[in-house]
Amino acid sequence: MGRVLIRPPSEAGSLLVEVFQGCNYNQCKFCGIYKGREQFKVFGVEEIFNQLNVAKKMYGDYYGTVFLTGSDMTCLPTEFLIAVLNKISQTFPSLERVTCYSSARSAIAKFPDELARLREAGLKRMHMGLESGSDKILKLMKKGTLSKTIIQAGRRIKEAGIQISLYVLLGLGGKDFTEEHVRGTVEVLNQTDPDFIRFRTLNILPNTPLYQEVKEGTFKLLRPYEIIKEQREMIAGLDVHSEIFNDHVSDYLDFEAKFPEDKPLTVRLLDRILADPRTKFIPPKELTEM
Ligand code: SF4
Repeated sequence: MGRVLIRPPSEAGSLLVEVFQGCNYNQCKFCGIYKGREQFKVFGVEEIFNQLNVAKKMYGDYYGTVFLTGSDMTCLPTEFLIAVLNKISQTFPSLERVTCYSSARSAIAKFPDELARLREAGLKRMHMGLESGSDKILKLMKKGTLSKTIIQAGRRIKEAGIQISLYVLLGLGGKDFTEEHVRGTVEVLNQTDPDFIRFRTLNILPNTPLYQEVKEGTFKLLRPYEIIKEQREMIAGLDVHSEIFNDHVSDYLDFEAKFPEDKPLTVRLLDRILADPRTKFIPPKELTEM
């Protein structure tokens, strides 16, 4: 099996700089990205600098955007990250942005001035998996973070001048906790007011603990119609100033919107889709790769 390199769709054109591989946590019950596929390993500064030297030889000075690969960049020491960011800006002086994934757990462990120094060194945006704002669901799914931490981390990141992009996983409460999922997620999104909100849809891979629960019937998956209804309820509850994207292969709908101005139109669009009798018959996707 080849290397697992994950990046957001918005970073499709970015230079991927491998800072670490695998996941330093790897316990979320719904996530099969790295389970049984890749061990956690941090690359040394020399290895990372070497990647950048090779990229410079290939592309010259003018690479516009860089994405640091790894599931949780802020779990690494601040000085290490600043050394990497400095080398990136020296290598590509006209760079537009550097972005990465981060967890709320590790971001909140950084002091505000450490985050500000990361921003000064060129880190422009952090992508973070909220998944759900419900503490009950976060605990059930072993996310390792509670809603309060996500709100605090999101606010701290924004105050440091770094953009935050939060990811919501539709369907994560299953049939039993869909209302709880909507309520908690709306609450966290409204309190954090992130720059970007990206919706993904739960897709169960066989290498996840949740797969077994689905087979045993203890976790009941939502049908596509119910997923769209769940998202409609979330969207209707949002009071944010965010760009919203349904742009993942797992999603049943493909759209983007700018809130608050596009909120009435987005709710009407979702209501129209739900009122269409064909929506009840959309088949589940059941992707085998993510
Ligand atoms: S969702 Fe993120 S933190 Fe959780 S196991 Fe997957 S990569 Fe690791």
